Amino acid sequence: MNAEILNSMEAAQNNLGLYIHIPFCRQKCYYCDFVSYTDSEAIFPDYVAALCREIADQGGLFTHRRIDTVYIGGGTPTLLTDSLVTQIMETLSGHFHLTNNAEISMEANPGTVDRVKLKLLRSLGINRISFGVQAFQDRLLKMLGRIHTAQEGREAVVWAHQAGFDNINIDLMLGLPGQVMSDLKDSIAIACSLGVRHISAYSLTVEPTTILANQLSRGLLHLPAEEAETDMYEYVTEVLPQLGYNRYEISNYAQSDYECRHNLKYWHYQPYIGIGAAAYSFLGDKRMANNDHVAEYIERIRQGASPVAETEIIPNPIAIAEYTFLAMRTIQGLCFSDFSDRFGMDFQEYYRDVLPKLINKQLLILTDRSAFLSSAGLKYSNQIFADFLPEE
Ligand code: SF4
Repeated sequence: MNAEILNSMEAAQNNLGLYIHIPFCRQKCYYCDFVSYTDSEAIFPDYVAALCREIADQGGLFTHRRIDTVYIGGGTPTLLTDSLVTQIMETLSGHFHLTNNAEISMEANPGTVDRVKLKLLRSLGINRISFGVQAFQDRLLKMLGRIHTAQEGREAVVWAHQAGFDNINIDLMLGLPGQVMSDLKDSIAIACSLGVRHISAYSLTVEPTTILANQLSRGLLHLPAEEAETDMYEYVTEVLPQLGYNRYEISNYAQSDYECRHNLKYWHYQPYIGIGAAAYSFLGDKRMANNDHVAEYIERIRQGASPVAETEIIPNPIAIAEYTFLAMRTIQGLCFSDFSDRFGMDFQEYYRDVLPKLINKQLLILTDRSAFLSSAGLKYSNQIFADFLPEE
């Protein structure tokens, strides 16, 4: 490996990711328990002003670091007006040193974009767009409380291509009430025919405080039988790679070189700065959470105070567990030498009581360089992750 490559690898490791949170939605989806506010258009300008001030402040603290991934998520960032998005992007490039090839992603709801908006987003330097499509069946979208139709999902992708986006993701959901295998097959076929580069295919998680949970508990909706859900999961894991979308994380599939670099930072336990209400920053051994109440966040910034509501110094045993299960989310798994470089210890020795059990159950595979979850392990990953936590 020549010096130039080594230098650029070292530089990439020193680069930071940047997350910007826009906690507003037009309507709460029935399955969602994220922090997001509806009917809040009146405070968008104040929120963006606060956000821009935080961007400027944080930029001043990180003048020596370059940003190679930006992710503008929510919520629904595409609810913001054109001038507010422009303000954010101009402040960002004015206060942070973005690398030339920075991946700049924005989440978009198909019900909030049109040709003109997508052209503007592309012209502002956003080069990756992630549509929360979820399904291409109107009855499922209605059941989920989504604000868009299947046709609007299709149009949004077509318009994004026309606006010059090459790197397009679609989120799809499986295991939905009333969803049958042919729905999922159709949704995947449509996504592929639209030429997206990346597909995130998630199983529905029923969060207890949501409208969906309430409807399920009252017997108004029914989840698919476990066997039907397993069939859908297996269909996705088998078919997407055959269609050219390589599985690189439990729920994420991409064409070659279109893996989401920002999300890979999370799974590789790399540092990032979070900006906005409810955003988290992770800087090596420290995690900071911004105030999650929008009005309080705006007020703190106005008063020149820090928006950070909580700082946690991550104890080493917790950092080891987090590093391990985040790495295990990826198909590549955990590299032993990266682990020992980071923590100064041997992975197999540290987890000598945990690994044999997982290997015997054929959930984990070990090579001489790495450990990764088997297909069965990926399916039951949530239960496995608990095994890596330190004993209380
Ligand atoms: S658009 Fe996304 S963040 Fe907003 S309510 Fe729906 S799922 Fe939640």
